[in-house]
Amino acid sequence: MEKNEDLGTRLENAGKRFFKKTKEFADTTKLSIKLKELDLDLDNLYQIAGKAAYFGEDTKEIFTQITDKLEQIEEVKVDIADAKGMKICGNCKAEMPKEAVACMKCGEKFE
Ligand SMILES: [Zn+2]
Repeated sequence: MEKNEDLGTRLENAGKRFFKKTKEFADTTKLSIKLKELDLDLDNLYQIAGKAAYFGEDTKEIFTQITDKLEQIEEVKVDIADAKGMKICGNCKAEMPKEAVACMKCGEKFE
C-alpha cells in the first residue's frame, strides 16, 4: 500500500515538473517572439535616425525612442532569463543560474 502511495506521489511530482517545464517553454517562446519584434522595431528606428541625421533633421525624438526600445529589450531579456531560472549579470549581460554569487564571465559579485 505504502509503495503505491510512493508511486502516486512520484507520478504527481513528475507531472508537476512536466507542467512547470511546459509553462517555462511557453513563457520563453512568447518572450522570444516579443524580443524579435522589439529588435525589428529597433532596426527600423536606427534606419529612421540615420536618414534624419543624414538630411540634417532633428533626431532628438527618434533618439529618445531608441533609448526606450533598448530599455524594453533589456527588460525582456531579464524576463526570458527569469523564465528559464536564470539571471543576467548587470555588468557584462551574461546569463547564469539564479543561485550564482558572482558572474562566471566577468567576476562581478552579486548581492
Ligand atoms: Zn558579468
